[in-house]
Amino acid sequence: MPQIPKWLADTMITVANPWLRQAVVANIAMITDELKQVTFKGDFDHENFLPGKIVQFRVDDTSFRHYTLSSFNKQQGLCTVLFYLHGKGPGSQWASSLQEGQHVKFRSGEGKLQYNLQAKHHFFFGDETSIGLFNWYKTTALACSHEYFGVLELQPQHEPALPALKIMVDSVHTTMDAPAVNAIIWMEDMHPDCWANWKGATFYLAGRAMSISRFKKYLLDKGVEAKQIRTDAYWADGKKGL
Ligand SMILES: Cc1cc2nc3c(=O)[nH]c(=O)nc-3n(C[C@H](O)[C@H](O)[C@H](O)COP(=O)(O)OP(=O)(O)OC[C@H]3O[C@@H](n4cnc5c(N)ncnc54)[C@H](O)[C@@H]3O)c2cc1C
Repeated sequence: MPQIPKWLADTMITVANPWLRQAVVANIAMITDELKQVTFKGDFDHENFLPGKIVQFRVDDTSFRHYTLSSFNKQQGLCTVLFYLHGKGPGSQWASSLQEGQHVKFRSGEGKLQYNLQAKHHFFFGDETSIGLFNWYKTTALACSHEYFGVLELQPQHEPALPALKIMVDSVHTTMDAPAVNAIIWMEDMHPDCWANWKGATFYLAGRAMSISRFKKYLLDKGVEAKQIRTDAYWADGKKGL
């Protein structure tokens, strides 16, 4: 429900108020010019947020948008979201305007992408919008002595975000007219011994719908089983607020 009449949005907020989490913006860090890491502080004593947790903010009078937690510290009452400020919609504008000290309310829900604790190998594919998700997955993989690897489609100016967040995956340049193509070329360049190590991994595909669809087909054609692939489309060309 990305956009609804204001009266309905007001009613939903009033009805859902007892279940809404309240928090204050405790810290802001610009990872790159368009990747804004926002730390929220709240009373999360009774929360058990797990990697992949989705949050939903009301971003203007009539619109709600989904984001993913990129970390959670229950003891300190802190959670973070990494917002990609693409500048094309109210969600991005709202995230740009967030300032330290600002109070926010959000709804939280299970994400489609759950970290597979049974797997030893975890492969990430996504873009700017899924760096936050993979940041928490990376922390989880390290804590479980699992291995992770992957490739993200990023605009060149956002590549420094990966080393800055110590996410040890590769990146290729985004091509708007050829979704996933550079990532598939990158996969084809992978040494056969490396692929032998990773072909049994759990594959997490999150971000642009068209890229996910092409990359998933590529993996299936390469012999990866459908049950190994977990997907969540975070945005689609020309569509508002998935
Ligand atoms: C479950 C879920 C979790 C998500 N987690 C995150 C997260 O942690 N961080 C994050 O930054 N985003 C995340 N997103 C994506 C975010 O909700 C979308 O990018 C959303 O479209 C932003 O809303 P908006 O109002 O700025 O743009 P909208 O009004 O929704 O869209 C306006 C236009 O912008 C285009 N657009 C949307 N996203 C992008 C993009 N990334 N690149 C280029 N064009 C785009 C749309 O196609 C449309 O044409 C998540 C989405 C979902 C569904």
